[in-house]
Amino acid sequence: MGSRRSPFDPVAHGLDKDFQLTNYTFTDPRGVGWKVPQKDLLKLLDEFKDDGGKSAEEMMLQRTEFGIGSDCSVKPLPHGGLCLVETTDFFYPLVDDPYVMGQIACANVLSDIYAMGVLECDNMLMLLGVPQRFSDKEREIIIPLMMRGFRDMANMAGTKVRGGQTVLNPWCTIGGTATSVCPGTSIVCPDNALVGDVLVLTKPLGTQIAITARQWLSIPEKKKKLNALITAEDVERAYQEAVYNMCKLNKISASLMATYNAHGATDITGFGILGHAENLAKCQKEEVSFAIHNLPVIARMQHIAKGYSEFKLLQGYSPETSGGLLIAFPREQAASYCKEMDRLGASAWIIGIVEKGNRTARVIDKPRVIEVNTNIT
Ligand code: MG
Repeated sequence: MGSRRSPFDPVAHGLDKDFQLTNYTFTDPRGVGWKVPQKDLLKLLDEFKDDGGKSAEEMMLQRTEFGIGSDCSVKPLPHGGLCLVETTDFFYPLVDDPYVMGQIACANVLSDIYAMGVLECDNMLMLLGVPQRFSDKEREIIIPLMMRGFRDMANMAGTKVRGGQTVLNPWCTIGGTATSVCPGTSIVCPDNALVGDVLVLTKPLGTQIAITARQWLSIPEKKKKLNALITAEDVERAYQEAVYNMCKLNKISASLMATYNAHGATDITGFGILGHAENLAKCQKEEVSFAIHNLPVIARMQHIAKGYSEFKLLQGYSPETSGGLLIAFPREQAASYCKEMDRLGASAWIIGIVEKGNRTARVIDKPRVIEVNTNIT
């Protein structure tokens, strides 16, 4: 259970009352967000085709290693049956509390190695972009708070930040790398889903809707339409729920994957649940497809999504930050996994099925929305 966090007070830190970390986020004037669209990205990644002209997907089908398009790169090392598992990620501020932003960024970096069932991170590096527009005072106050949040989350995960890079930048960015050297046998390969498996999700969807809605509360012309759909109190509760979930490590969710014989997993981030389900489906060995029937969503966010079609929540494309794991399990073991997660005070929902198909994923027409609002007291 989480408790409600009081908002970051810049004045208490000796800064101007109007200081907002989210003012240093890059916003695309066309309103398409800051991710390179998935289809454009895949085209760019052709540059990494190997010498034989094999695409990343073809390389993956050889099953010797995982790389582009997977959550992590996995490289078998020439010695002792060990593998090098590495990932990197960074993004712009989406909350105003610098300490919490650091925590979210770190949990988000680690999430990719957890998606492969790798629980021990041997090293982390931190990548930081410090806004040129920060005054000396803002830099001295805000940046250490972000670094502390990142460091504390790394420590909570049982690892440590041992280096990185800091540069000046027009916007604020924070992220890093996570590296693990582990036996190949401890990796849960993502590509073993079978017809009859079911899909489990471990965090609710709707994080970015909650964050956006809360920002709209302070913009009069946005607030009016929003308040016709949802109360300010519900927006605040959803925001707290989103922050709680974004700060939560996927480590416990990952630690039980092998126990319950997981057949593959990925973590849900910027491409939305369906975007990531499509990626996971694409890499499967068997001719399977994923059908998503249920969408666990932070309470009331579905009402906002219905009022603003651009969120694409019920279509499965609403971006998430530091989202949960999407895991394929044999049916009986999925139920046991969810029960065990519940016992540990963590959440997990069965959201779909693995059926015969051509390695695609879909959200069914009129999916059932599960309203989630349990973690904030
Ligand atoms: Mg990922």
